[in-house]
Amino acid sequence: MTTIAIAGFGKIARDQHLPALRDNRDFELTAIASRNATLEGVDNHQDLDTLLSAVPALDAVALCTPPQVRYAQAVAAIEAGKHVLLEKPPGVSLSEVEDLVRRAEQQGVTLYATWHAREAAGVEKAREWLSTRRVTGVDIQWREDVRQWHPGQQWVWEPGGLGVFDPGINALSIVTRILPEAFFLREATLEVPENCQSPIGATLEFTDVHDTPIHADFDWRQTGPQTWQITVDTEDGKLVLDSGGSQLSINGERIIDGEDIEYAGLYRRFAELIRTGQSDVDVAPFRHVADAFLLGRRQSVEAFIE
Ligand code: NAP
Repeated sequence: MTTIAIAGFGKIARDQHLPALRDNRDFELTAIASRNATLEGVDNHQDLDTLLSAVPALDAVALCTPPQVRYAQAVAAIEAGKHVLLEKPPGVSLSEVEDLVRRAEQQGVTLYATWHAREAAGVEKAREWLSTRRVTGVDIQWREDVRQWHPGQQWVWEPGGLGVFDPGINALSIVTRILPEAFFLREATLEVPENCQSPIGATLEFTDVHDTPIHADFDWRQTGPQTWQITVDTEDGKLVLDSGGSQLSINGERIIDGEDIEYAGLYRRFAELIRTGQSDVDVAPFRHVADAFLLGRRQSVEAFIE
């Protein structure tokens, strides 16, 4: 049994980590570190440093704080000899993540940079089907309502919060997993509200080595039904991943219509990594976001009012 603490007891910790940990026999949640929140039945501390000193027998820490504070918390946990699970995105810069990989290696602990969308029910089957096919075009539509998914969260609009790339990176985590070829950003437009520092919308154009067009629209202004859809055209027909990857159709036939199993999958994988003494840090989705911030043309749009 691996004892684990959660740092940052906010929306995702409550909605997903807590139930996933309760259902997983490999872990026992024994503590949380959160400045304002507490949880009954575990040790409560206001910050991670205090928790790490107070609970030395702890095995692992899940970092569910905003990305801006993740590096410092990860360093503290790794240096204290804990296995570390990072919520996505794994930090605010690629350099931070590379340093964490080095530190985890030196300390002999597991570092797991999670991509929850990759655990969606249709993703592995999509990867398998596409692995033997020639892709001719990709269209990614990732449109959701920021007010619903990030109520009152100021950090998403600040540097390092990624704006609409906070959900958009989920789409990128799926396409970097399922497409058989690497792809590269050619152009991007980032729509930044005049009162914010990060984008509320983005349009991205990528190509792969065969010049296959890969188009993405990320939008945080969608009300009503939410859209998390990836369409891949191939020489053998069309593959569609919908509902964030939980539904898979190939040539119009529904192959998988799955439940929400993403966080159960993440904790299964974390347990396996700890058991086998490995780390899993794939920065490919994060690198595409960094490229968008490097290459993207910024366009000012109307102020965002919550
Ligand atoms: P959140 O609701 O703001 O929760 C994060 C918690 O971290 C806060 O409640 C806060 O708890 C703590 N925190 C905030 N700022 C901090 C700071 N400067 N220093 C230390 N602790 C701080 O955010 P969230 O939606 O859970 O997102 C957290 C991470 O999960 C993000 O990386 C996000 O991309 C990822 N995620 C979110 C969703 C979603 O649907 N929202 C889905 C998947 C993944 P205290 O005030 O109690 O310290």
